[in-house]
Amino acid sequence: MSITSNRVRAAAYSFEPIRQFYFYSRYADRRGDPDICDFTFGNPHEMPLPGLVEAIRHYAVPHNKDWFAYRASEPEPQTFMAERLSQELSLSFEPADIALTNGAMAAIAVAFRLLLDPGEEAIFSLPAWFCYEPMLLAADAVPRTVRLRGDRFDLDLSAIEAAISPRTRLVIINTPHNPTGRIYSRDQLTDLADLLNRASERIGRRIFLLSDEPYRRIRFDNHDFTSPAAVYPWTVVAYSYGKVLLAPGQRLGYLALSPLMPSSDKQALQSSLFAAQMALGWCFPNAVMQYALPDLEGLSIDMHALSAKRAWMTEALERAGYEVLRPEGTFYLFCKCPGGDGGRFWDALAGRDVFVMPGSVMGVPDHFRISLTASEPMIERSLPVFAEVAQAICD
Ligand code: PLP
Repeated sequence: MSITSNRVRAAAYSFEPIRQFYFYSRYADRRGDPDICDFTFGNPHEMPLPGLVEAIRHYAVPHNKDWFAYRASEPEPQTFMAERLSQELSLSFEPADIALTNGAMAAIAVAFRLLLDPGEEAIFSLPAWFCYEPMLLAADAVPRTVRLRGDRFDLDLSAIEAAISPRTRLVIINTPHNPTGRIYSRDQLTDLADLLNRASERIGRRIFLLSDEPYRRIRFDNHDFTSPAAVYPWTVVAYSYGKVLLAPGQRLGYLALSPLMPSSDKQALQSSLFAAQMALGWCFPNAVMQYALPDLEGLSIDMHALSAKRAWMTEALERAGYEVLRPEGTFYLFCKCPGGDGGRFWDALAGRDVFVMPGSVMGVPDHFRISLTASEPMIERSLPVFAEVAQAICD
């Protein structure tokens, strides 16, 4: 008999490929070595934003004796966030709609705890970020997956509709989407909202939508963004500052309830947020990050430089024969493995010190993901390698 709980064993099984990759793979052996070209995780490879460093330094110094007292989701940052989010999404958030969390992962865990009973189902589309499934399993919920559609990885609404059962409680949408970089249009989201309204009526209970939007501010070519919270009232939004500040180790984010939600449902969720955050083990941001929030809100990675990297790598890879999905948002490039054998391709690149995220950890073994957070010297060194490996594999 195992000494760990069933739910942790299930989550561990699902997390295993990424754990192996991070701790025990050829990549793990070389992680941090300045000679490699690291395109794997969305991690920084250059010094942090000076404004972020200044804010942390400033607020790390106690201003009074209570400075490091317990801080839950406090009214001051909630009010600040509600105002800013209302401007950004053109919706009227109130402070109680905002639960400050230590990143989007905590916001997602809180949403699962808030909305899902054991055995209830949550639907998401593949390829996907590798944490939805294990986090659902750890919440004793049942993950149901459908595939995104076609070469451009569109939402497949018919597949979502077909996956809905009487036990469906949640649909997860991630826009801008990791790993494909797609941003779903207002029309697509409105069709999804219609579908969820019809399906909720059919099964006799409300299906909620979790909009996971940590890359919301990382968009190219002035691409429009609509939050599902603006078209489907039973939406909860997960957000993280880890992406826009490119500082995923400094945990700050929130879960926000759509202001369009009918007030009886919204009040029930509002009044349970504190319990969900406490019961999960203090899912609030550290005091320093809460104080720093107003200073951090206006900061961003250099979108101009990121766009230039996107163009540089996309064009070079396409010239070398790669099929690249030009991202509308996020800092990833999503590409097909030349030759179709993801494992062989990954090994060939790794043998030349170029490390990418294998599609196998996201449910698409014939694809790979490049994080454009790699430094310019890494990109420069890698491009001849990408070209030579593609040629060698296809010859
Ligand atoms: N959602 C998606 C789609 C992500 O890609 C990530 C991080 O990679 C997260 C949520 C979690 O973000 P954070 O680590 O900042 O909480």
